[in-house]
Amino acid sequence: MMRSTLAQTEPPVEIPPPDQTATLRDLCDIAFDNSFVRELRADPLPDNIPRQVRNASYTRVTPSAVRAPQILAWSDAVGELLGIAAPDSHTGPVADVLGGSRVLPGMAPYAARYGGHQFGHWAGQLGDGRAITLAEVICPDGLRRELQLKGAGRTPYSRTADGRAVLRSSVREFMCSEAMHYLGVPTTRALSLVGTGEMVVRDMFYDGNPAAEPGAVVCRVAPTFVRFGHVEILAAQKEFELLKQLADYVIRTHFPALASTPAPEIYAEWFEEICRRTAMMVAHWMRVGFVHGVMNTDNMSILGLTIDYGPYGWLEGFDPNWTPNTTDAEGRRYRYGSQPQIAHWNLTRLASALHPLISDEAALVRGLGVFEATFNRTARQMLATKLGWTEISLPDDEALLAELMDVLLQVETDMTLFFRGLADVPMAVLVDNAALVAPLAKAFYDQDAVAGLAGERLANWLRQYCQRVRRDDVPDATRRATMNQANPKYVLRNYLAQQAIDALAAGDARVLDRLMKVLQRPYDDQPEHDDLAARRPEWARHKAGCSALSCSS
Ligand code: AMP
Ligand code: MG
Repeated sequence: MMRSTLAQTEPPVEIPPPDQTATLRDLCDIAFDNSFVRELRADPLPDNIPRQVRNASYTRVTPSAVRAPQILAWSDAVGELLGIAAPDSHTGPVADVLGGSRVLPGMAPYAARYGGHQFGHWAGQLGDGRAITLAEVICPDGLRRELQLKGAGRTPYSRTADGRAVLRSSVREFMCSEAMHYLGVPTTRALSLVGTGEMVVRDMFYDGNPAAEPGAVVCRVAPTFVRFGHVEILAAQKEFELLKQLADYVIRTHFPALASTPAPEIYAEWFEEICRRTAMMVAHWMRVGFVHGVMNTDNMSILGLTIDYGPYGWLEGFDPNWTPNTTDAEGRRYRYGSQPQIAHWNLTRLASALHPLISDEAALVRGLGVFEATFNRTARQMLATKLGWTEISLPDDEALLAELMDVLLQVETDMTLFFRGLADVPMAVLVDNAALVAPLAKAFYDQDAVAGLAGERLANWLRQYCQRVRRDDVPDATRRATMNQANPKYVLRNYLAQQAIDALAAGDARVLDRLMKVLQRPYDDQPEHDDLAARRPEWARHKAGCSALSCSS
């Protein structure tokens, strides 16, 4: 593998003032920057072979070229964010760069070194085993954003794996990160999906039946892909000087609001801010019914962004114990209802790793307290908004919420459709049970089950609920509009993603294109696309990838 010749002392590009009206340029004409490479310590060894790396934050590597790179999907919105024009051809120089076959002048590609706690245990060095950051772009909005290829070939952090990614998992990452953005959930983004023209072998069910599947590369975009694990590996290896260097770099570059705080308080404030952002992210996950599936500390972004889309899913049948990740089916560590506690546990691991910089333990405890307070306050307010209440405050509210949880669990109830339907429940006092329940009918997987006692219990709850709504005295139209901004109609159900994958694998991008367009306006009614807001069909319940799925990617 070639080493890039860009010197580590390369000066930074001059940061231009924000120019939102800037015309879009060809990727090949962008002036790239490489602050991570410039300001942090490089692995002194050039060898791209799996190994333990010491005393470094990254290793310079070049993506491995692929046979026939072809752009399969492109996000215009992310292109505009970056100031990059959509290429006019599926193949050619842009496809070559974003598929990993070509490095442009000014790029200094690298794989980052990080560790992590996986499923509750310290796993040692992990690192970018198949992700390679190409460069950073100073965007028209003045912000710095990283272009990172996932599936771009082996690095020293690949361990025994191949450095590649299959089409199905790449489509899922590309689509979901964009869908999450439009849902208002903090997330990394994705610019492009490139088919490699090569096959990748995966044992999808972990049952000893490996098969060849088409490979792909996603170009992900975020201000930085630094994870909790970047800090953890340096603390675990007692590389405290590098730990401080990394912290200072991340704060200076990505938390400019903290810049004027003196050390050591600045580190405590930084931790507190990470806690706050993580709390907001998880509160949003809970609001939209998103289950990440693999909340290891190496999958936790230091910016509080949803990162590393793998075996994720959305609650269809409402069940706090549900996880989409079949690899976690036994312990269900990362189930929907545990996500706030797991985020807190992960932050505790980060706190331990930051201890060399923050000797004041009370400050770390305060930070964790900020997580709890922020999450509780935000999640509660979000739930109130989902219900159409101004807040959860009246004495009987808790009892109503407890009964709601039971009502949602008594028969299989689609979380997204239930909350979306609540806004349409008639608030008039004199309506019969059937009219009261009708707007929610779509949410039930077994229509017969709600016809009997379960329906009666639901109607009883709805009567008390309506009474509670009326006490807020908010005009109906206002309340319903507010609810519809908190309760998406369209989410990327796993079976929908799978349909897009199957079509794309057969050469048809239309399913993906349509879904992506609809998911750009997840809170709008879009009645012509009602079929994409339907509950999961029965055929999809046990079909691979359509409900649950393994970590194989
Ligand atoms: P994940 O479970 O996807 O969060 O990945 C955990 C670790 O395994 C990270 O260090 C990844 O870079 C690495 N990894 C996952 N898949 C591959 C692969 N196909 N090749 C190399 N490294 C991988
Ligand atoms: Mg990961």
